[in-house]
Amino acid sequence: MTYIIAIDGPSGSGKSTISNRLAKILNIEYLNTGAMYRAATLYFLENSLNENSTEAEILNALDDIIIDFIENEIYLNGKNIENEIRTDFITKNVSWVSANGKVRERLVDMQRQIASKKSFVLDGRDIGTVVFPNAKYKFYLTANARQRAIRRFEQHESNLSIDEIEKTIIARDQYDSTREISPLKKAVDAIEIDNSNLNIDQTIKLILENMDKEDVI
Ligand code: C5P
Repeated sequence: MTYIIAIDGPSGSGKSTISNRLAKILNIEYLNTGAMYRAATLYFLENSLNENSTEAEILNALDDIIIDFIENEIYLNGKNIENEIRTDFITKNVSWVSANGKVRERLVDMQRQIASKKSFVLDGRDIGTVVFPNAKYKFYLTANARQRAIRRFEQHESNLSIDEIEKTIIARDQYDSTREISPLKKAVDAIEIDNSNLNIDQTIKLILENMDKEDVI
């Protein structure tokens, strides 16, 4: 039997590192849905779309986007964009792109299709609430904003200081959790883990302890 593990939470809560490792431990697949919104953002910016673009322009652009994952690295129309999507410029723009209903419709379809045939860990903001509301396991990871900013800083993907990263994280959380469509929120049946004072291994241990023995081999 295949199963889905939904891991949601705000930026810097450790979702992608934890999901990636968890998938390896369980010998199942991993899908980073944030990378997909970042890929769409990269394509939109390269093609001069902005917050005021019309629905027709957005739909046309979406028709031109092919996203693939090869060994957990993301490809946009055949090109590896794993590093390009982590820049401050993409991070600054991803919120308006991911708040667009047409973008979400298209990417959620892709996510459901990708994860339809095998067991998967998916991480994002709306996995347990919208993409897979019937997921067998749902976790909601959080940590205080300072701790999350320090983690992002230590990833060396940003040119900003810890204080500046903290500000952008708080702004993005606010935007993601108040948008009309699929806002970031904990599914009622998700297990919440505040990992402000936990490391990656301790968080993974807690997740595994909350899974059925038959799935943890
Ligand atoms: O996870 P990551 O920080 O890379 O996600 C980038 C952005 O993509 C988030 O700030 C959010 O706006 C959006 N996102 C989303 N729904 C998801 C995953 C990410 O709206 N399932």
